[in-house]
Amino acid sequence: MKFSTKAIHVGQEPDPSTGAIMTPIYQTSTFAQSEIGVHKGYEYARTHNPTRTALETCLASLENGKHGLAFASGMAATSCVGNLLKAGSHVIVGEDVYGGTYRLFAKVLTNYNIEFTFLDTRNLNLVKQAIKPNTKMLWIETPTNPLLRLADIKSLVNTVKSYNIITVVDNTFASPYFQNPLDLGADIVVHSTTKYIGGHSDVVGGAIVVNDENLYEELKFHQNAVGGIPGPMDCFLVLRGLKTLSLRAREHEKNALAIAKFLKAQKSVESVYYPGLPDHPQHDLAKTQMRGFGGMVSFVLKGGYESANLLSKSTKIFTLAESLGGIESLICHPSSMTHGSIPEKDRIERGIVDGLLRFSVGIEDIDDLINDLDFAFNVLENNLRIKV
Ligand SMILES: *Cc1c(COP(=O)(O)O)cnc(C)c1O
Repeated sequence: MKFSTKAIHVGQEPDPSTGAIMTPIYQTSTFAQSEIGVHKGYEYARTHNPTRTALETCLASLENGKHGLAFASGMAATSCVGNLLKAGSHVIVGEDVYGGTYRLFAKVLTNYNIEFTFLDTRNLNLVKQAIKPNTKMLWIETPTNPLLRLADIKSLVNTVKSYNIITVVDNTFASPYFQNPLDLGADIVVHSTTKYIGGHSDVVGGAIVVNDENLYEELKFHQNAVGGIPGPMDCFLVLRGLKTLSLRAREHEKNALAIAKFLKAQKSVESVYYPGLPDHPQHDLAKTQMRGFGGMVSFVLKGGYESANLLSKSTKIFTLAESLGGIESLICHPSSMTHGSIPEKDRIERGIVDGLLRFSVGIEDIDDLINDLDFAFNVLENNLRIKV
């Protein structure tokens, strides 16, 4: 079965008791047993819920994995993977991972005597040099937020595999439509389903997908033991979003490419980051590792904070807000929003300068999006001219 068919059907057979085509929202905390220990596979809804099972089964199939686990948020999924670590373990992490992931690792898990090395995962030598006898996990994001840098999943897996290090890929930015890390050798895939998978900015959720039975059993144990599970209504919403992921992903990508090209042509734009542009330094890797380039575009404006602020408030369709991956176009100013907690010097060193803006390009009509930006850039360029 191909992706768009799986998204609509896997785990989502008509309800056996009524024939309902859509997966019912099993809003129940517990399930009847006909005699002690005899039940239909469900006992208590932290452990299992049929709406969640449908979502978990579908997510697993979209990542070409055997097992899926759904969570109340992307951070709950990340935290569950963190539960695999024991005191004294060491983890190698991409330096530009999601801010919440950085916070969980650097400010929570370090309290449990787990050690983290943050580095540029584009550089295989750096990764190799960072491996210690107690290194248990490599955590990467690709493409990264907000600079859309890529990590070469296959080469990284090959670099760490012989050391018994688990490779985890946060695949939120690409979505399973554009990239399947398990196929490239990764052990665990993590998603914030809040983003492209849910796709409508109306639900917060997370997921883990794996192939390995032992890893699955361990993660399933922690999911139940810690309890960061999504409710049935949230599972339903994510499933509902998932059904149209392939359609949305193609539109996001088409619009993002057009906008990346538009940005490149603007006098007030210093640089554009989009893996789909032929001059992106990792365009070739993107072409082999991904099936498309996604809907996120970042760029640096001349004039720093002032320009970024003026452009952000001059658009009418693009809305200034956190988050990404929904049908609507959003602008983020990483240095003050998503990455505001990184000390200024580190932030600027990492390329997250005050003139940087990140677009989550939505699926509105491209003509309207370009007109919206065209107007905002005119405001900006007139303002820059007045100042000169
Ligand atoms: C949003 C996000 C997360 C966290 O997900 P929540 O659903 O907000 O908890 C993790 N990783 C990436 C790449 C994200 O964009």
